[in-house]
Amino acid sequence: EPDELADGVAVLAEATRITVLSGAGISTESGIPDFRGPNGLWTRDPSAEKMSSFQDYRDDPEVRRRSWQSRLTHPTWTAEPNAAHRALVSLEEAGRLVALVTQNIDGLHQRAGSASVLEIHGTMHDTVCLACDDRRPMREALDRVAAGAADPECLVCGGILKSATISFGQPLDTDVLTAARDAVLSCDLMLAVGSSLSVQPAAGLVGLAARAGAAVVICNASETPYDDMAAVVLRGPLGEVLPALVS
Ligand code: NAD
Repeated sequence: EPDELADGVAVLAEATRITVLSGAGISTESGIPDFRGPNGLWTRDPSAEKMSSFQDYRDDPEVRRRSWQSRLTHPTWTAEPNAAHRALVSLEEAGRLVALVTQNIDGLHQRAGSASVLEIHGTMHDTVCLACDDRRPMREALDRVAAGAADPECLVCGGILKSATISFGQPLDTDVLTAARDAVLSCDLMLAVGSSLSVQPAAGLVGLAARAGAAVVICNASETPYDDMAAVVLRGPLGEVLPALVS
């Protein structure tokens, strides 16, 4: 798709205030599976979706036990940022980035060196207590799971601990969402990368940008509901597409 890439480079070259929306697809080349891509966790096992519901996690100790066990060996703990994460760092260093809004919870944008990251779905690097809101590093809870705890409880109040991520059925942080909307409304280019754009309200940010007059560029291996709104759509692997786009 050399023509599309050239179109993308041209659209990007004109933009001075870029807001990026990233999704799980930017981290698959770092070895972290997405949900809905060709090798996604839910593509391979649709029943895995249940583990992400907040109500199931809160009400069912068995769901929590399975969740802690799978987190113990999660690929995120050993993953390294890839060329796509680094390409977005260079956009920021060039002073052309308004904000990097991410649905990802893996922290790889920050590890790569991005500073203006808005984590609208939270982070798996912290835990939060559902009763008293005490927040601390995930490592503390995982050490207790490794030592035999099935469902490590809050060290302050004994409440249920959860990763500091937003599960289905849980509200987003309104301050973070407001900052993301502000970034979208003040950009001249919305660059959506590695997201199926099927989770609201995150996906709606693309429509919001388009209605506010921003150009939209979508880089994603599979189709999204917003492809029709985009000036350019690029399907190649992000580790190749993003460096080529920003170079
Ligand atoms: P998604 O799984 O719905 O979509 C990912 C998209 O990326 C797919 O359409 C896939 O075709 C595309 N893709 C995968 N690898 C790619 C590559 N190398 N190059 C180009 N495209 C590629 O993910 P989503 O849209 O982010 O939404 C799902 C939710 O999953 C989010 O809420 C997020 O919090 C959560 N999640 C996060 C992580 C992570 O932090 N790394 C991993 C899994 C799920």
